[in-house]
Amino acid sequence: DEGEPGTFKDRTYLESDPHRFLEGMLIAAWVVEAKEIYIYLRDEYPGIRKTLLEQISKIKSEGLSDHTTIHLRRGAGAYICGEESAMIESIEGKRGLPRHRPPYVAEVGLFGRPTLVQNVETLYWIREIFERGPDWFSSHGRNGRKGLRSFSVSGRVREPGVKLAPAGITMRELIDEYCGGMAEGHTFKAYLPGGASGGILSAEMSNIPLDFGTLEEHGCFIGSAAIVALSDKDSTRDAALNLMRFFKDESCGQCTPCRVGTEKATKLMEQNQWDEDLLRELSNVMTDASICGLGQAASNPLKMVLDHFRDDI
Ligand code: SF4
Repeated sequence: DEGEPGTFKDRTYLESDPHRFLEGMLIAAWVVEAKEIYIYLRDEYPGIRKTLLEQISKIKSEGLSDHTTIHLRRGAGAYICGEESAMIESIEGKRGLPRHRPPYVAEVGLFGRPTLVQNVETLYWIREIFERGPDWFSSHGRNGRKGLRSFSVSGRVREPGVKLAPAGITMRELIDEYCGGMAEGHTFKAYLPGGASGGILSAEMSNIPLDFGTLEEHGCFIGSAAIVALSDKDSTRDAALNLMRFFKDESCGQCTPCRVGTEKATKLMEQNQWDEDLLRELSNVMTDASICGLGQAASNPLKMVLDHFRDDI
């Protein structure tokens, strides 16, 4: 369920090389002796669904999946079903509401069984790492980080798209070396390092290594590596409002801080004059008291605009 705004790497990989994903999936199931595999595919990808159904049928008839049983489930278009426990609820045929933890899904997951939830890209790399060895994979990387990352780059760059780049590359390097620079007539101003909930950083902060664990001290995170570049033609205030509206729509409604908080924050952010004290208080309540990551991170862009883009407000 690749529903994070700005993320399209899994779609690209499933469209361009579905067998690599399927092979990684079968190897992984064999290694952990998983009796059942569930692929959860968002319904916005009908072409991929057709491909997967055809290829899974061939895999079965060739006897390549005798060690496990493969199910392909259609998602119904809820952002929250990218959250692992909500996705499990959805696969079980229920509304996609995140579960309380513990217990974690690795112990009590799908239909009460121990469950490993993996992203498409993780499985996509398994075959390559088997063939080339782990040293090959970890020989990549920059700024002290290891491995390769698939960045979904969109926004005001000259050449957007999926960029396979070393882990730890900085935004500046990514734009210059992989995206052909900024688009004509645009000056780099800000970027989203991790999709809708990963926060917004200014161009002055474009030398931070992009990877897991490197952005947290700046109030951000990389998430699914959906990078959105904004320029001098964009308002970060408008971007933060747009993202808050998105979270308001996608909140599953289970807990009050997120359900009511996103709606109230949207209304406050639609005012000409922002009530900063109230917005900060509201953000803190949402972060502290929401059940899952959606509500906890929904105010990240808002907080970053308050901290770093005073001119825009
Ligand atoms: Fe649902 Fe939001 Fe609460 Fe998560 S934080 S459980 S999305 S209402």
